[in-house]
Amino acid sequence: MPSIRHWARQRRRRRRTDAAWSPARWDLWSVSRPVLGYVLAVDLLALAAIAATINLVDLTASHWRWLAILAAGSAIHIEGSLRIERLRERTTVGPPYVNLKGMWTFAGILVLPPPLAVVLIVTTYVHSWLRLSRVPPYRWYFSASTIVLAAATGAVFLTAISPDPYPGYPHGPLGLVAVGTAALAYWFVNYALVVGAIMLSNPTGEAGKALGRLADQFIVAGALGLGIAIAALISGQPWTLAALLVTVLALHRALLVGHFQDAARTDPLTRVANLAFWHQLAATEIARAERGGTPLGVLYIDLDHFKTVNDTYGHAAGDTVLTAIADELRHELRGDDQLGRLGGEEFAALLPDTTAADTTATGERIRRRIAALTVEVATSNGPAVVDGLTCSIGAATYPDAGPDINAALLAADTAMYAAKEAGRNRVITAPTSAST
Ligand code: GH3
Ligand code: MG
Ligand code: MG
Repeated sequence: MPSIRHWARQRRRRRRTDAAWSPARWDLWSVSRPVLGYVLAVDLLALAAIAATINLVDLTASHWRWLAILAAGSAIHIEGSLRIERLRERTTVGPPYVNLKGMWTFAGILVLPPPLAVVLIVTTYVHSWLRLSRVPPYRWYFSASTIVLAAATGAVFLTAISPDPYPGYPHGPLGLVAVGTAALAYWFVNYALVVGAIMLSNPTGEAGKALGRLADQFIVAGALGLGIAIAALISGQPWTLAALLVTVLALHRALLVGHFQDAARTDPLTRVANLAFWHQLAATEIARAERGGTPLGVLYIDLDHFKTVNDTYGHAAGDTVLTAIADELRHELRGDDQLGRLGGEEFAALLPDTTAADTTATGERIRRRIAALTVEVATSNGPAVVDGLTCSIGAATYPDAGPDINAALLAADTAMYAAKEAGRNRVITAPTSAST
């Protein structure tokens, strides 16, 4: 018997599906004007590309057969990797979320006439929308449009360079150059359009975040490489694709490794290193400092009277404040500094190649930054602004504070408690071990 949770999920799904058919309820109208203009422009361009290429080449029986093979391959791939993809969706934080299904559509771009390539893109996208997370329809339509435009650009490069007629897998080394260039063009257009949308929707966000993780781009490269292999096999050895499919499904699991590794290392609330991973980073940094004879700064940061924030605004608001504080810390630190959440409202930072004076100065900048911070939070009584936050910071430096990393960590911790004792909202620097 279906559980209540199952029914609730069904109802949610149905509501979202209903919304797809009533334009007045589309989430699209709630996005900002620049994003709306951008999304509509990309959608219209994709439609124009489809209209312009619809009669470009005559359709043959082989084309229809290849479409059937690619659509079947894509469908089996989506069904066979559902569990893995659902797990990836749940463990992925932040865009862009990439996947392997591009291998089938990219093969389609190489061997199918444009309208059939579009049919393949649409069936693949509809299938994964039905079976995986249901993003709002306008986002789904936008993603498919970026693929259509990427496909059109790829096809232009393919025809320009290929020694053989388009479409079809081209022969020889020049053929490889043609498909390689088409893959690069396809990747670039799709990536640029998606990153453009992310940056427009979140103009204050870091550009680096919109660009996503490098590891994700390896997945895209892998998908395009497999797409080229599929296209090469489909006309001569289509049955081999069954073996390729088994390989792809088996290797697909490897995509989870990176996600689980990230999840195991990261604090889910603030997205900084968790306690265990931060200690691992600390061991690496200390070894580097020992080898290079360079100083290593340590800061322990504990928020003052944080319990009051929770008591006044609620625990959820407290969480929002903690996330905002982690963002402030990240902004104040350098790229190679290592920030971690040691637990609760306590953070720690490692500052490689930093003297005692500079470590204390960084602690002081952090203290002032947090004191100036205002955070908008939602409470049960409506929105509120949290300000007047303070923190107590202990600063220590290896090797000044002690002969090993544990001594430096302990010294920073002790200095932080001394800052609490001394009245909070201050930075206290650990004495050098020679003077203790
Ligand atoms: P002080 O450090 O200045 O002595 O006071 P404090 O109130 O910050 O100190 P204490 O360490 O006693 O309490 C920490 C509080 O932080 C307890 C808890 O309410 C809150 N806290 C810890 N972890 C979280 C979290 O993940 N989310 C939220 N919202 N609050 C947390
Ligand atoms: Mg505290
Ligand atoms: Mg504490």
